[in-house]
Amino acid sequence: MQKKYLLAPGPTPVPPEALLAMAMPIIHHRAPDFLPVLESAKKGLQWLYQTKNDVLILCSTGTGGMDGAVSNFLSPGDDVLVINGGKFGERWTKICQAYGMKVEEILVEWGYSVKAEQVEASLKKNPKIKAVFVQANETSTGVYHDIKSIAAVVKKTDALFVVDAISALVAHDIRTDEWGIDVVIGGSQKGVMLPPGLAFVSVSDKAWKMADVAKTPKFYFNFKKERENLSKNQTTWTSPVTLIIGLNAAIKMLQDEGLENVLKRHDKLARATRAGALALGLKLFPKESPSNALTAIEAPAGVDGQAIYKDLRVKYGITGAGGQDKLKGKIFRIAHLGYADTFDVITAIAGIEMVLKGLGHPVKLGTGVGAAQEILMK
Ligand code: PLP
Repeated sequence: MQKKYLLAPGPTPVPPEALLAMAMPIIHHRAPDFLPVLESAKKGLQWLYQTKNDVLILCSTGTGGMDGAVSNFLSPGDDVLVINGGKFGERWTKICQAYGMKVEEILVEWGYSVKAEQVEASLKKNPKIKAVFVQANETSTGVYHDIKSIAAVVKKTDALFVVDAISALVAHDIRTDEWGIDVVIGGSQKGVMLPPGLAFVSVSDKAWKMADVAKTPKFYFNFKKERENLSKNQTTWTSPVTLIIGLNAAIKMLQDEGLENVLKRHDKLARATRAGALALGLKLFPKESPSNALTAIEAPAGVDGQAIYKDLRVKYGITGAGGQDKLKGKIFRIAHLGYADTFDVITAIAGIEMVLKGLGHPVKLGTGVGAAQEILMK
């Protein structure tokens, strides 16, 4: 027998409270019993998103929310600005290009975060830009982009500000209304502590006005239809009732903890993980602005990052993540997102120590764990 530990940046572990709620018999999505369930999910998401805007609930993974955020607000030929600092930034570009938008990119070196002044300069240079797309967390590099400062510059223009917060929600403070973010996308299998299968999209009044004139063809992800149905506590297509019931249980746990405490917990777990890695003489991949959802760690010279990822999983049952694309073999990633606490970090750091030693890298066992413990006990 080997006990499994899921420490990947999605899917993340699902708490027993949500699992139990999802074990209830299926109810019909058009029957009256479902209406209060959806109403509660709707309000819970507005709480999490810190918004009064509609938060649509889609039956898809996060990418479906991204896809709809392009097709519903823009027309083919529109100029858009994409902040591309990793695999998920690249995805914005691919989606926009698939729908025929003219994409201008700010290419951010992997491991760095974009500066608001860069966004401001691009918007000044091309006033035709209709929308700015960014990740809050670029999960492939473990970097957090400073959404507050970017929102402040986009807000001064007519451009729509669209944030993929799929891996950032719950781990980072995303103040949708206060910062003026038009569209925020989330996904169920990350901080929200659920299985994959739901995408969430908040939509501001400015974005709804753009939806009225957007000409991109769409069918499944029709946000105006979703809004109409949401007002009746329905979804357009068959509702993923089980996941929405789970969502209410998961959001209740977050509400019981309190958003401020949830954010503090993620900050502490992230600091402890970083301290543990540094104490082992490892380097963090982010050169600035490391994420509170996950930690991307460089494989030490002479050690294959994929071997670290694989040994953690195979020898010790710890599933983290490897590096993507050009970072494959160079980094490995450990998440501390959602249903994560003190001993998830201890497990991760202890596992890293054992794996590195097993791979012949000099490690004094307990060094990283001790450094993490110092922070976790504060
Ligand atoms: N954007 C970010 C920042 C992500 O971390 C992910 C998933 O890892 C996605 C988008 C894609 O989400 P999904 O795999 O749910 O479509």
